[in-house]
Amino acid sequence: MAEFDYDLFTIGAGSGGVRASRVAAAYGAKVAVAEEYRVGGTCVIRGCVPKKMLFYGAQFAEDLEDAKNFGWSIDGAKFDWNVLRDNVLKDVDRLNGLYTQTLDNNKVEIIRQRATITGPNEVTLADGSKLTARYILVAVGGRPHVPDFPGSDLGITSNEAFHLESLPARMLIAGGGYIANEFAGIFHEFGSQVTIVNRSDVLLRGYDESLRDRLLQISTVKGIQFRFNADFQSITKQDDGSLLVSMSNHDDMVVDAVLFATGRVPFVEGLGLDTVGVKQGKRGEILVDEFNKTNVESIYAVGDVTDRIQLTPVAIREGQAFADTVFGNKPSKVNYDCVASAVFSHPPIAAVGMTESEARNKLGAVRVYQSDFRPMKNVLAGRNERSLYKIVCDESTDRIVGIHLIGPDAPEVLQAAAIAVKAGLTKADFDATVAIHPTMAEELVLMK
Ligand code: NDP
Repeated sequence: MAEFDYDLFTIGAGSGGVRASRVAAAYGAKVAVAEEYRVGGTCVIRGCVPKKMLFYGAQFAEDLEDAKNFGWSIDGAKFDWNVLRDNVLKDVDRLNGLYTQTLDNNKVEIIRQRATITGPNEVTLADGSKLTARYILVAVGGRPHVPDFPGSDLGITSNEAFHLESLPARMLIAGGGYIANEFAGIFHEFGSQVTIVNRSDVLLRGYDESLRDRLLQISTVKGIQFRFNADFQSITKQDDGSLLVSMSNHDDMVVDAVLFATGRVPFVEGLGLDTVGVKQGKRGEILVDEFNKTNVESIYAVGDVTDRIQLTPVAIREGQAFADTVFGNKPSKVNYDCVASAVFSHPPIAAVGMTESEARNKLGAVRVYQSDFRPMKNVLAGRNERSLYKIVCDESTDRIVGIHLIGPDAPEVLQAAAIAVKAGLTKADFDATVAIHPTMAEELVLMK
């Protein structure tokens, strides 16, 4: 009889857990994955993927407006939230099915229950049954963090934003990070009056200052309102169903919905980490070594629950590296240098490598190249919105250490350029590349 029920028991069928489980199974391991909600995880079910579909839906608002100067008349265009919401949710169902199928095809057993760790090699399911495994992988991801103050439970998070019964006429978005700026753009384009309320005066901490300023300027011109240095005091539901929000430094506001986009924290509650003594950090994150192993020999963790870089492609890499290391006999570490990222705001931002100020602090002498331009399409459309592309170079080596873009399709443009930064190419290499004309991306090889 086998020593354990499974070679690998994964908790959480999100991006990291699915990749780790199916690759481990392909290496011949007997694998089970426990998932209490839906297969696919935050990204597929209530994150990146449905968000991107809403982003596309929102973009039509501007495209339809811009179409006029291109000779198109679209009279009576109107937006129906219910149609988009239902179509997006239908596609999420399809993706949930595909992810389930992938696990089935790889002979990974899906256990649709919550699992708790009850021993270094044991988990207990919600129905009380106990299972054993040579290795346990925790890949439960994160959950939205909602600040604790009177009435904060009257707000929603990104989890619920995809299911709204109707579009709120007035929406307050709390936070100034990825989710706040993405949903602000989306709901503003759909016609909601959006106000971002942030505790500091810094939006998108970590991104280059010039891009953050540009996004703030463009968003303000579009009509998104901002309130900075505001700490929430209370939310009260009024007789007409609206919400009265009180905050420091600003007047009260009456809105129809409050969306909390105030960060995501590791989803470690009730996992049983204490039972086996898995070490955690200050935010509750599971501490792991470079091979994703915790301080308990048989327990590993990947993805947002480890709070390294909270991005799906990173979790996928970690899941792959775990499976390669533990079941493929190929010790693998994820390289966290130059991880590119994007914010699907309107317009989007994309960045890789060091910001200008980071580079100045770390390298001393840097050269910065910048192109501040109005994309051709915006010119003809009469849309007074400028893009900003910035390249940061190490002056001593000419090596490009950062690229920062804001403008239409910035994430699409950056993905290819990120290869060059990762590969350590120099400004001279970029200069030697003949432009594709006319494009926005050509700015990258034309900066002087
Ligand atoms: P972010 O960390 O991007 O932003 C959180 C915001 O909330 C910050 O402005 C932060 O302020 C503020 N905040 C944090 N705690 C509190 C608090 N207690 N009270 C009031 N304000 C607070 O988190 P998001 O929720 O926007 O997104 C979570 C993560 O999900 C991101 O970090 C990202 O990794 C990932 N994500 C990635 C996307 C993408 O790749 N396009 C899209 C969406 C999410 P301060 O700056 O002062 O800390």
